[in-house]
Amino acid sequence: MLKKGSKLYSILTGTCPKCQEESMYESSQLYHPQKTLKMNEKCSNCGTKYKIEPSFFYGAMYVSYGVGTAFAVAAFVISFLIIGTDLKTSFFAIVGTLIVFMPVIMRLARNIWINFFMSYDPNAGSGIKQDEINPKQ
Ligand SMILES: [Zn+2]
Repeated sequence: MLKKGSKLYSILTGTCPKCQEESMYESSQLYHPQKTLKMNEKCSNCGTKYKIEPSFFYGAMYVSYGVGTAFAVAAFVISFLIIGTDLKTSFFAIVGTLIVFMPVIMRLARNIWINFFMSYDPNAGSGIKQDEINPKQ
């Protein structure tokens, strides 16, 4: 279902949006506070620079609002409508969900944000393109 080449693959796995060969993040440890948002400067496979312009990932804040809302709605539906707790309990379920999933939401937002601007390129990372992007004198 989740095939390489789709934006969804890059968004869910956090891989380079161009070649989808390697992770954009330095660490796979999602819950390490100093490593959650540490990103590689560029893709070592295809040479794509992730930070297109200074402060590029500030825009991910807008996406993060939407992603956070989706998690909150999901928490509400599960606790209030499916489990059948009262409103106060489902409120705490929403707050708890947002805290627990904060690193996931932050990374998802960045992945979605960068995928607005870059698309999968099946030729990225193959010798020809790499030399164009990343010339070795
Ligand atoms: Zn790449």
